[in-house]
Amino acid sequence: MSEVRYPTTQSQAVWGQRRAGGTDVMDRLRHGRIAGALVDLRDVAGMEGLVVLPDGSVEVGTKVTLARFATDAKVRAGWPGLADAVGGLATPQIRQVATIGGSLLQRTRCAWFRSPDFSCHKSGGSGCPALAADHHWNSIFGAGPCVAPHPSTLAVALLAFDALILADGRGTLTVPELYGDGQAADREHTLTDEQLLVGVRLPPPLPGAVSGWLRTAARARAEWPLVEAVIRLVPGGMRVAVGGVAPVPMRFLAVEAALEAGEGVGAAAQAVAGAASNPGSSYKVMLLQRTIETLLERLLTPQKAAP
Ligand SMILES: Cc1cc2nc3c(=O)[nH]c(=O)nc-3n(C[C@H](O)[C@H](O)[C@H](O)COP(=O)(O)OP(=O)(O)OC[C@H]3O[C@@H](n4cnc5c(N)ncnc54)[C@H](O)[C@@H]3O)c2cc1C
Repeated sequence: MSEVRYPTTQSQAVWGQRRAGGTDVMDRLRHGRIAGALVDLRDVAGMEGLVVLPDGSVEVGTKVTLARFATDAKVRAGWPGLADAVGGLATPQIRQVATIGGSLLQRTRCAWFRSPDFSCHKSGGSGCPALAADHHWNSIFGAGPCVAPHPSTLAVALLAFDALILADGRGTLTVPELYGDGQAADREHTLTDEQLLVGVRLPPPLPGAVSGWLRTAARARAEWPLVEAVIRLVPGGMRVAVGGVAPVPMRFLAVEAALEAGEGVGAAAQAVAGAASNPGSSYKVMLLQRTIETLLERLLTPQKAAP
């Protein structure tokens, strides 16, 4: 798998702040949120393969673009909910350059964090202006101090398929291990500056599984979601993963248990237990339930054969 794996002899050459596709990091550079040299991963060999392993799993290098990943025939056939989610995020232009690693490690989209005019827990200060402003983007789960929702659609989709993250210096991580509680002051993940994300591994598709992705957003394109869900339905392996509601991608175990018990669309009602919010984001509680319900309706309705 040399196309995917990282040649470890290069390790020290890529420590620090990296640029992959550059769509997130250059924005932060422009706004004065980071300074100093960037290591361009395009100059580093390897990590650009998309390889099917003998057991049917797939390894994808960190430098693979989102466009290539979402349109790959093997990915579309084996993990349709994942391909739909990645193929629908941002814009075609961004997907053309953005990478697997950059997508997973992009920083929070919170406007207060991104603005050089504010200071917060994530930008070297303390407190959370988004919380004080009672903003409509805020999370509805999690104790803070940062209330910005996790930004990566890909991470939500990988969570729904039990994917593993391959990281030089850390080995193999689950999605929850990659992100921890999302509350570190200078990053949303648990990798250190010395650790490089080299790729992801998708376990073999489960026979009979159906999957899909649905988001509710303020506009159809070029926008992060208010709430988005990726669901896989298969007895013994139900997965309901949601973004836009917490500082990390979130699995809804109670919904999954209700689906395992045969509950159907009504299982979505289990999602809202424990949700808490300020008035500005309280609409997300209803949106969360409706997003899961609508996606379940679609996935549970047998597809009509084309005429
Ligand atoms: C209008 C708009 C709408 C968008 N909507 C969405 C959306 O709905 N969902 C979504 O998920 N994203 C969305 N995005 C964000 C976009 O997907 C990200 O900017 C992109 O995925 C980042 O990938 P990149 O390769 O350009 O990362 P870069 O900007 O190059 O890097 C991002 C970060 O990751 C680090 N990094 C990158 N690769 C590695 C590695 N291998 N190891 C260690 N660190 C690494 C870099 O140091 C940097 O800090 C949107 C962007 C825009 C502009």
